[in-house]
Amino acid sequence: MLPLLRQIKGVHTIKGSSIELKASILVEGVSADDDSLAELGRKYKEQNHGLFGWDFEDHVDKLLPDDFCLPDGTVVQFRMNSRSPYRVRKQGSDMLLSCNGEDICTVNWIERPGFYSQKASSGRDMVKIGQIGGEDCLFFCYQNYCAHFANNKECYFCNLVSTSKTYNSVLKKKDIDDIGEVAKAAWSEGKVNHLLLTGGCFNNQKEVELVSKVIASIKRHTGFERVPGTILPSPAKGDHLKMYYETGIQAIGFSMEIWDEKLYSAICPGKSEQTSHRQFLQSIEVAVKLFGAGNVYGVFVMGLEPRETFLQGVEVLSGIGANVVPFVWSPNPGSKLEGHRAPSAAWYLDTTLEAADIVLKNGVPPGTENHCFRCDGNSLLHDALRLKGIE
Ligand code: SF4
Repeated sequence: MLPLLRQIKGVHTIKGSSIELKASILVEGVSADDDSLAELGRKYKEQNHGLFGWDFEDHVDKLLPDDFCLPDGTVVQFRMNSRSPYRVRKQGSDMLLSCNGEDICTVNWIERPGFYSQKASSGRDMVKIGQIGGEDCLFFCYQNYCAHFANNKECYFCNLVSTSKTYNSVLKKKDIDDIGEVAKAAWSEGKVNHLLLTGGCFNNQKEVELVSKVIASIKRHTGFERVPGTILPSPAKGDHLKMYYETGIQAIGFSMEIWDEKLYSAICPGKSEQTSHRQFLQSIEVAVKLFGAGNVYGVFVMGLEPRETFLQGVEVLSGIGANVVPFVWSPNPGSKLEGHRAPSAAWYLDTTLEAADIVLKNGVPPGTENHCFRCDGNSLLHDALRLKGIE
């Protein structure tokens, strides 16, 4: 593999490390020539739009990578933007990434899992049931539905409905046994290390009952006593927290989205009516006691609030033993904020490095058994922690 060929120059950059490059690619998007895409869907893993779309443009008739790896293994989400300065082209057997025509480094598309070509015993295509995020995270969305769209109260950054209508590429509801079979097939290939399980937005009691059945099916098919990975349900509260713990999943996440309370209400009008900032915090504190420090996540869309309030959130959550997953915001098609721009790569980098310092200072166990840098092409925090020796 070629090393980094040269540091990036010009308006979009920074000094040339993988995390800087990743931040810049996530903010600017990337495109790829047809030759480099030729073996997607056969040799290399393609996008299947299990829940949200992260590209800056829709690409209904074109297979694109979900994500790719930089030379040091950093995983980067592929966000299609035909106007991006970043472009991947095929040269011999290498994929070369360039910025404004200057070669930067080779990249690797991620191998397509074998189960993507298999069928469950029900006859359904496994790839329409579960997908791999990054290199090692098996993702199931048990229901692609959110009631907030019906009354125009969806979160401003969310394109769940538009993605589902545009691509229609996965099953909206999944059969419980199918999910267990896909988990077994995926784990038996030896590449998957964690599970990520989520739905859109649900009635809490029905959701916890469904998740219990899904995890039971996964345990039955894989033989796990406790399943390494994370459940990211509609905001879990009260008795449901214990019920989620008792399903046997090792970690739980809370999609708080925005730390600043007023911005949270403005950007997430429907969700904030149902779950306040205070309720999230109370639930996270209870969840840390049940699941253990490091096994609870506050999940944020990073870039829609000031650095100061975001970092306050990291301080408070890591102070009570929770980890943080901050996704780099994509102003994606179909969301209310389509066509806007995220903050600069330098903003993301500086803010994330400070967040990593806060997490380390508070001594939160890294929780990499449930979620790691190889799962995570759209967040920079694991990469920042890797720089500080946490993998
Ligand atoms: S709660 Fe918000 S982010 Fe989640 S699916 Fe609904 S609109 Fe999208």
